[in-house]
Amino acid sequence: MNLTAQSVWDNCLSFIKDNIQPQAYKTWFDPIKAVKLTDNALSIQVPSKFFYEWLEEHYVKLLKVALTKELGENAKLVYIIKMENTYGNQRPFTEKIPSSNRSNLQPQELDVPVKHKNPELKNPFVIPGIRNIKIESQLNPNYNFDNFLEGDSNRLARSAGLAVANKPGGTSFNPLLIFGGVGLGKTHLAHAIGVDIKDKYPEKTVLYISAEKFTQQYIESVKKNTRNDFIHFYQLIDVLIIDDVQFFSGKSGTQDVFFHIFNHLHQNGKQVILTSDKAPVDMQDIEQRLLSRFKWGLSAELQTPDYETRISILKNKLYRDGVDMPEDIVEYVAKNIKTNVRELEGAIISLIAQSSFNKREVTIELTTQIVEKFVKNTKREVSIDYIQKVVSDYFQMDVSTLQSKTRKRHIVQARQLAMFFAKKFTKASLASIGSQIGKRDHATVLHACKTVDNLAETDKQFRKHLEDLTKKLSQ
Ligand code: ADP
Ligand code: MG
Repeated sequence: MNLTAQSVWDNCLSFIKDNIQPQAYKTWFDPIKAVKLTDNALSIQVPSKFFYEWLEEHYVKLLKVALTKELGENAKLVYIIKMENTYGNQRPFTEKIPSSNRSNLQPQELDVPVKHKNPELKNPFVIPGIRNIKIESQLNPNYNFDNFLEGDSNRLARSAGLAVANKPGGTSFNPLLIFGGVGLGKTHLAHAIGVDIKDKYPEKTVLYISAEKFTQQYIESVKKNTRNDFIHFYQLIDVLIIDDVQFFSGKSGTQDVFFHIFNHLHQNGKQVILTSDKAPVDMQDIEQRLLSRFKWGLSAELQTPDYETRISILKNKLYRDGVDMPEDIVEYVAKNIKTNVRELEGAIISLIAQSSFNKREVTIELTTQIVEKFVKNTKREVSIDYIQKVVSDYFQMDVSTLQSKTRKRHIVQARQLAMFFAKKFTKASLASIGSQIGKRDHATVLHACKTVDNLAETDKQFRKHLEDLTKKLSQ
């Protein structure tokens, strides 16, 4: 008999189906794709890291039994996680992931997508100048416009994205910079644009890459003395999508090379799409000439979704998973998880899973527990008011003294520390920090941050203050 990944997986599925609830099957096994079979290892693709962890935690035994039946004692399962990037992760069946290792599952430490999936890209430098090389776009088709729900919070960014997808390089939105806080859909939208372009213009070379990966590739090319080939390679691309460009901060070599690539692409009518966790005005340690390029096109913000949008994101997710959930439960989740779409989704997935796997009815109690877990796990952001209070208390002064115009050295230092911590611990912009700490401007805040860095290196006493305060504020 000729075994294929599909046939092996189909057999596993029919076994699994007989052994779990239909709802759980639908939630956790329907979305899996069999990808590859080599010897005794079956590779399956799962939609997210969360999904993978869930499978490992709850279904690993079942999977083992099913796959052993098909492939014998030495059967192995390889997960390929489709997420922002494609991560591969391989674990033998018999090995349970020790919980201390869980934290190692940070995306950066998983396998590298470019290396993993795409030999041309892994070593793009040997074939520069050849026009028709095939460049894998590294796009995730699960992130598309259809499932990127529109709301007031994202309307501008979404429609700009659509406009760019209709006419890549042909609008004034070049570059298109999408910015906003964690979990608000930057990566999703960036992929959606790429996916849509690939759909409409299959002949165009689209490439999605994280700024981090780009940086690593660049450093590698410098080591190997292939910097020019690196530049050359990127200049071949029609639509370049770079995710999380704030990662370029302070990396002048990478900024320089990106500047050249950007200019070339822009001059040739190619489209550049960037995402960042900050607006260009708030980006630190990015060269001026690059910042000014970022501002050439359109900067569109993704804001935190309002209640209605949160409800529709949840309902859409439930609809896609074919799950019915009482209205009051959906409302409870939407009311309590406000600032991060990723958490919103995580909570609803947990709810679906809990109810189907443990055959528990979804009650408000269960929902409260799950939502609490999500809200608690997110580090609460300290406020600028709180920082000012802690710093003033520490130096035994009033907040009003800390904010005053005096130039007395110890007060100035206290104020600078407050600014420094506000920058470090909150997402507030420099301008907004300045206005909240004694009505200063953004340049003063920037100067304060630099001064604190300098003093921490040169002044022992000051370093002690910094350490004490860091401890107090991290509690
Ligand atoms: P970011 O890159 O800004 O941190 P992501 O793009 O990774 O955020 O989004 C986090 C999660 O939230 C993803 O699963 C994404 O699909 C989902 N999401 C964000 N915005 C929306 C939206 N408007 N509609 C549907 N899903 C969304
Ligand atoms: Mg992202």
